[in-house]
Amino acid sequence: MSRNWKEAAVAQKESYLDKLIPFLSINSIEDLTTASEGKPFGEGVAQALEYLLKLGEADGFATKNLDGYAGYVEYGEGEEEIGVLVHVDVVTVGEGWTTPPFEPDIRDGKIYARGAIDDKGPALAAYFALKLLKDSGLPISKRIRLIIGTDEESGWLCMQHYTKVEKLPEVGFSPDASFPMIHAEKGQINPTLAIAPRIASNDSSSWNLLSFASGDQGNSVPEKAVAIVSLPAAADDEQAIRDLQESFQMHLFAHGVTGEVIPGGDGSLRFFAKGLPAHGMEPFKGKNAGTIMASFLNRLPFAGSDRTFLNLLSDVLHEDYYGEKLGLACADEATGRLTVNAGILTYDRNEGGSVRLNIRYPATINPEEYVEKLKERAPQLDVTIASLRTSRSHYVPKDHPVIQTLSRVYTNHTGEEATLLSSGGATYAKSLKAGVAFGPLFPGKKSMAHLTDEYAEIDDLLRAMAIYAEAMYELAK
Ligand SMILES: [Zn+2]
Repeated sequence: MSRNWKEAAVAQKESYLDKLIPFLSINSIEDLTTASEGKPFGEGVAQALEYLLKLGEADGFATKNLDGYAGYVEYGEGEEEIGVLVHVDVVTVGEGWTTPPFEPDIRDGKIYARGAIDDKGPALAAYFALKLLKDSGLPISKRIRLIIGTDEESGWLCMQHYTKVEKLPEVGFSPDASFPMIHAEKGQINPTLAIAPRIASNDSSSWNLLSFASGDQGNSVPEKAVAIVSLPAAADDEQAIRDLQESFQMHLFAHGVTGEVIPGGDGSLRFFAKGLPAHGMEPFKGKNAGTIMASFLNRLPFAGSDRTFLNLLSDVLHEDYYGEKLGLACADEATGRLTVNAGILTYDRNEGGSVRLNIRYPATINPEEYVEKLKERAPQLDVTIASLRTSRSHYVPKDHPVIQTLSRVYTNHTGEEATLLSSGGATYAKSLKAGVAFGPLFPGKKSMAHLTDEYAEIDDLLRAMAIYAEAMYELAK
């Protein structure tokens, strides 16, 4: 039996918008100040979760609230289960909205609100898809569970709790990224390298790096850097300082960034650099203020741990986006090259240095091997590994039935080949062993997730609804 899911979804337009507007009107930013028993992420998030569960109840589905951490709406019977993973929490709103972020506004076929595309709009489209399937009366042999998370934008505690009280299905998809589908995601190694303080000489005859600070998040390219340096008496004259200022400017200019050197008047100099921030999974898109500054300072005759710190930043980490100088370079077909971001770089003459890296490794390599390589490399760099956190990668092979099925459905609806995509970061689908991120953003459309004036195109949400309905049917029949 074939069914026109597209027509069925388009017929839901009014009813969908009727339900979407109040849903988007709930401010579901995590707010721990209003957290309480059964509402671990605050009132708004709890309300948004209840909203979907109530809809499910009213439409005759089995529903359950899992202590406010997550919930589900379920359809069908059978041992086997298909998971569809959505979330109701949203990120903060920032400034500059044309219309208030929690007063949904429709302009030009787009609905504007925080959560319109990430992820309440798609979550409700998936809910409607489940309802279309139920109303169609088509026989299915598995259960389909719409799993509703509440902490996707922060710590994924929702999924942690879910696995404590329920068993996550192995197979499914998550409407929280892009079409056609993302089947592979890099994993992460997050080491902090420590440099012990070794003050070579503290007298006025040498250059001293008093302090250095750049970056505040491991997974972002540092935008700013500040260093305080003390000069040897011999170099502390106006002409020498002017020369230094000039060569620093040339260095910054050559790297396409800005900054300055300001004499402290007490034999010290303050160096400032302003780079270009970028996401840590794409360090090559930014300009790392810290390593750019260090690659200048490293020309000056520092010694001891000053030198160790600057060497590491300048000779190893500066523009080493793919871990070549770190000795970690590798790549795979699914997710491409390993990347390295030097995210937090600090040094204090008395306390030593600390360098926090965010390494993203290809989905199909064994991270242990690379952790070992890093451990071997550390003594050569005169550093110790103070801490190290890894998170696993995610990979569903191309020939897995879930990919075959979703590809077919996608092609049916769009006439386009379902090219498989990969991601440098984690999508919600990673929670399921054989889970892929499947929509809602169509190729070529701009992602407005997390941005000011977030919107979703209503026709695209309806297209996604039809695709999800057919996907649910095909996976569960
Ligand atoms: Zn999301």
